[in-house]
Amino acid sequence: MRVLLIGPPGAGKGTQASRIADHFDLAGIATGDLLREQVVNGTELGKVAKEYMDKGDLVPDDLVIEMTRARMLEASEEGGYVLDGYPRTLAQAEAAYRWALSRGIPFDLTLNFEIEEEELFARLAGRAREQHRSDDTEETIRHRLEVFAAQTRPLVDYYQRRGVLVPINAVGPVDAISEEIFATLHWHKARTMAAGVSRPEWALGPPRSS
Ligand code: AMP
Repeated sequence: MRVLLIGPPGAGKGTQASRIADHFDLAGIATGDLLREQVVNGTELGKVAKEYMDKGDLVPDDLVIEMTRARMLEASEEGGYVLDGYPRTLAQAEAAYRWALSRGIPFDLTLNFEIEEEELFARLAGRAREQHRSDDTEETIRHRLEVFAAQTRPLVDYYQRRGVLVPINAVGPVDAISEEIFATLHWHKARTMAAGVSRPEWALGPPRSS
């Protein structure tokens, strides 16, 4: 199973990504973590990336696309992955889509973490205090939310048009959100095993009671 998570910073993607990875035995790939690793190791990529990250800007597409491919390939050979924080621009989405298709490993689903933006600022400020992240000052938090709105939100439409977008209500208890996600993914897994089911039909997720 190959799953993408999209949603604004602070929506809880990281937490849910590790839970999904554990539950379905998938590799968790988080581009933010991969980039921070490069920064800590002082690589050339890390040096370039840090300048963008500290300002709350996105790292240039070509660098991120290149960095992510090897991980995706490796993980696909071992049963799949959950990708957190990539793609984040339409250029990345197109590059990832075409590349994955050419390798015969297209994405199954994109989970869209839906949350009101007012919620996010408080969450991100709390995380800044806990984790001492250099890109979590008040000013950069605001900027990262703007960058999300301008560059990443168009991906919602992009994946919706491809029939692979599943909305996830990202407000509420963390366990309840995990349950909703697990149910969606289990349902998806069962449906894809059944012969003759077309993607747009199953991509909508399980019927909802409310
Ligand atoms: P995150 O931990 O996902 O919030 O990412 C932290 C920072 O890493 C972002 O603010 C960006 O500067 C950079 N980053 C992570 N993923 C990407 C991506 N897909 N494209 C460009 N920059 C990224």
